[in-house]
Amino acid sequence: MHELSISRNIVAIAEQQCEGRRVLRIQVKVGELSCVMPDALRFCFDSCTQGTAAEGATLDIQCVPGEFLCSACNQRLRSSTPRASCDCGARQLICVSGDELTVSELELA
Ligand SMILES: [Zn+2]
Repeated sequence: MHELSISRNIVAIAEQQCEGRRVLRIQVKVGELSCVMPDALRFCFDSCTQGTAAEGATLDIQCVPGEFLCSACNQRLRSSTPRASCDCGARQLICVSGDELTVSELELA
């Protein structure tokens, strides 16, 4: 499962940065376009943290809206799903935000 390897990565990042302290909360930014299901991520996260410094930590998921910029007409488009073309018909869409998945904050004991 996609979310399982992502959870393992999140826990690995937390363990690298916690300097031996307990991790209380991990905030992650999940883009709408990243195809990650927050519920599945939470579920996998709980099983991945067992026996690690992040055991029992809260996973705080911040959803980042998907946004594209059309390089033909400079219009910004909001979309929660990947888009192939702009309303103007151009296919030069640049993804500005929404495809990220990053650990943005760690709260340590
Ligand atoms: Zn356009």
